[in-house]
Amino acid sequence: MESCDALIVGGGPAGSSCAWELRRHGMDVIVMDKASFPRDKVCAGWITPAVVQALQLDAKAYARQHLLQPITAFRTGLIDGSELETHYPDTVSFGIRRYELDDYLLQRSGARLLLAQPLESLRRDGKQWIVNELISTPLVIGAGGHFCPVARFMGAKLGAGEPAVAAKEIEFEMSPAQRDACRVRGDTPELYFCKDLQGYGWCFRKGNYLNIGLGREDNHLLSGQLKYFCDFLKQRGRIPQDLPDQFHGHAYLLYGHAVRKHLDDGMLLVGDAAGLAYPQIGEGIRPAVESGLMAAATILKARGDYRREKLLPYASRLVVRFGHSAASGSAGSTFLRTLVAGKLLSSKWFTRHVVLDRWFLHTHQEALYAAGD
Ligand SMILES: Cc1cc2nc3c(=O)[nH]c(=O)nc-3n(C[C@H](O)[C@H](O)[C@H](O)COP(=O)(O)OP(=O)(O)OC[C@H]3O[C@@H](n4cnc5c(N)ncnc54)[C@H](O)[C@@H]3O)c2cc1C
Repeated sequence: MESCDALIVGGGPAGSSCAWELRRHGMDVIVMDKASFPRDKVCAGWITPAVVQALQLDAKAYARQHLLQPITAFRTGLIDGSELETHYPDTVSFGIRRYELDDYLLQRSGARLLLAQPLESLRRDGKQWIVNELISTPLVIGAGGHFCPVARFMGAKLGAGEPAVAAKEIEFEMSPAQRDACRVRGDTPELYFCKDLQGYGWCFRKGNYLNIGLGREDNHLLSGQLKYFCDFLKQRGRIPQDLPDQFHGHAYLLYGHAVRKHLDDGMLLVGDAAGLAYPQIGEGIRPAVESGLMAAATILKARGDYRREKLLPYASRLVVRFGHSAASGSAGSTFLRTLVAGKLLSSKWFTRHVVLDRWFLHTHQEALYAAGD
C-alpha cells in the first residue's frame, strides 16, 4: 500500500491550489481525479485578477502558451432590454480555457498525480484513511466539485435537498465564417439577466473560441430560457446563426444556499465540494482557489495532528473571508430578485459600481495570498 501526507480528491482549481501550497511546504501530496487531464470543465472560463495574484500566475508567461483573453469592458442588460457598455482603463479580468488552465495548475502543483482514477472506497483504519484499498493517509481533502464523493461521505445530500444553481454552456472554436459573423468582442464579454432575475446568460469570446451559457436558480426552466437567450443573441446579430448543438450542463451550490459540513477528523472540503461559489453571480474559481489555500494554511499549522478541533481554524477562515454562510446567500439573491430590474440595469452608475465592480469583479475584496508568502 502506498502512503502520503495528504490525499486530495479532485484536481480542479480547489484541489490543485491546495496541493501546490502543501507541496511548497514539503508535504507529500497525491491528487486523485476520475478524469485524465487535460479535461473539459463546464465553465464560462472567466477569472479576476485576484485569482491570478493568489495563484502567483505570471500572466505574460502563461499567455505565451495558453489562451489568456484580457477584459477591459462589459456589455450588460436584460434579455430583450436595452444594453449598456461599461469601459475600464485597465484589464479588469481575463478569459481562460478550463481545458488549459486546470491542467497547467495541476501539473505545476508538483503533487503526485493519480488520474483517470475515481474515488471508489474510503474507510478509517485507526488514525489513517484507506483510499481505494491502495493508499493510506492521515488526511483526505475533498475537492471533487459539487458531487464530490468526500462531501457525500461527510453527509452531504448530493443532488437532493440542496437548492443548487443549474447552468448550461457551450464552448467551441469558431470557423472563419463564424468569426466574421460574431460581433461579440474578446475584450467585452456580454452579460444579460433573465427578466425574472433568477439567472443570467453570458456570451464570451476568447480568441477564436466562443462561450455561450446561462445559469438559473430554478433548473426546470433552464433549457427553455437558454434557447430564448440564444435566439435573442442571434436576433441582435451578436453571434453566428449556426451554433453547434452540444450544450453541457452542470449544477453547483452558491455560498449560503445550503450548508455543507466543511471539516471533520482528518477531512476537509474545498471549492464547489464545500459549496462556496459567490451567491450573486456564481463565480466559483476564486472561492475554489482561496479555500484551497486557506485549507492548506490550516493543515500546515496543524503539523500532522488532524483531529477536528485542530482543523476548526479552516471554518473560521471561511467565515472571515466569505461571511456567515446562512446569512450571505439569502441576502444576495433576495436583493437581486427584488431589484426593479429594468430601471437599475439601465443605470450606468448601478451597473458599474454594483453589478460589475461589486458582484462580478469583487473589487472590494483584496486578493488572498498563500500563507507562505
Ligand atoms: C456553466 C458554468 C459556468 C461557470 N463559469 C464560471 C466562470 O466563468 N468563472 C468562475 O469563477 N466560476 C465559474 N463557474 C463555477 C466554477 O466552474 C466552479 O466553481 C469551479 O470549477 C470549482 O472548482 P473546484 O476545483 O471546486 O471543482 P471542479 O473544477 O469541478 O473540479 C472537481 C474535480 O473533481 C473530479 N472528481 C469528481 N468526482 C470525482 C471522483 N469521484 N473521484 C475523483 N475525482 C473526482 C472532477 O473530475 C474534477 O476534475 C461556472 C460553473 C458553471 C456550471
